[in-house]
Amino acid sequence: MEEEWGSTQFVVEQFQRWFAQNSQTVPAPLEIESREFGFLTFHGRGMYRHIRLPTEGELQRYLRQNAPAHSYHSSSYYDDPTADMARKGWRGADLVFDLDADHFDLPCQKEHDKWVCRNCGKQGTGHPPELCECGKAQFQTETWLCEKCLQAAKHETQKLLDILIQDFGVHPEDLTTNFSGNRGFHVHVHSETVKPLEQHARREIVDYIMATGLEVEHQGFSQRNRGAKPVLAEGGWRGRTSRALYDYLSEATEKELKEMVSGKAAQSIISERGRLLKVLTDKHPSNLMPLIDPKSLQVVLRKAVKLQASEIDTVVTTDIHRLIRLPNTLHGKTGWQVQTIPYGELPDYDPLRSAIALKGPPVKLEFRNAPPIRIGETWYGPYGDETAELPLEAALFYLCKKGARLAR
Ligand SMILES: [Zn+2]
Ligand SMILES: [Zn+2]
Repeated sequence: MEEEWGSTQFVVEQFQRWFAQNSQTVPAPLEIESREFGFLTFHGRGMYRHIRLPTEGELQRYLRQNAPAHSYHSSSYYDDPTADMARKGWRGADLVFDLDADHFDLPCQKEHDKWVCRNCGKQGTGHPPELCECGKAQFQTETWLCEKCLQAAKHETQKLLDILIQDFGVHPEDLTTNFSGNRGFHVHVHSETVKPLEQHARREIVDYIMATGLEVEHQGFSQRNRGAKPVLAEGGWRGRTSRALYDYLSEATEKELKEMVSGKAAQSIISERGRLLKVLTDKHPSNLMPLIDPKSLQVVLRKAVKLQASEIDTVVTTDIHRLIRLPNTLHGKTGWQVQTIPYGELPDYDPLRSAIALKGPPVKLEFRNAPPIRIGETWYGPYGDETAELPLEAALFYLCKKGARLAR
């Protein structure tokens, strides 16, 4: 029989070996007895969920015995985590955020992601379209990742943390930031204040963080309401909007501006740049109006605000029955570890160094077109249709992504 792409059995054995030695490092989530657990195996068959593992010891034993491909716990607290959804008895939930490069539009995705229509066979790069030319929306996707994806996810996470701390007053002790094990980060807020919030309240938090429906006239950029002082240092979106515009104007090029506003407006923004910035630091933002036409200002502000908002996945935060990845377990699509990053260490966190859990002697692989990746200090790939020998830490990544199989 031909070896299947991904060599599942080999990967399963590596996961079993890792969990046998390391499951005792997986910490219990807070109030573990009220959490629902869910797991996916490497063999498909859907998720095993509605599982209660009331102690750390039972959780670790489960992980040792099953070595799951993906491990999750509920963000919610339930009276009976094993009951079906309607009968669980919801008692509250952590506030969770997902920042995943899958949801961003990044130029690098055109280089490393592919899709194929299951219906007509049409192929493309990057994100699949909403509908294929044949009218169907059944795509098979192959998503990889690169340092740019990880950098983008980190940047969005940092903006989220700033908003949570500065605007919502979340105490850093109540925050946990986790590397997802693949293309993103998760942020959890655990506190008695957020616990009882229902879906609509979480929706409002999402809108605030994403600056959905933000009207710049109410942030000081109005001709009618003139104030005396600059708002740059103010809290909330009022100050953030001014700082956003300041940052954007400091770096914008004429070429970039011309894509949004008229050539004349772009030229005048560039030639007045110094004065515009000085108004923002010294005066109320309404004083910008004589220097830049209101329509162009609106367009530039919208762009600047978007750069300061955080690209969170709205569904994850508003769904109060969500399962989220269990820290310190492994991610079956990379072989990497889901990791908690201590507060303040996100800027220097390098998942391609820290999250590589399994290491070992070289393995001979047969590839089918796989993009390059850095693991630790070493670069691997790109690979065409060829065989190569890689240390286990790199081999496992290509196997989990199904871009390779064990060579005979
Ligand atoms: Zn099609
Ligand atoms: Zn990328």
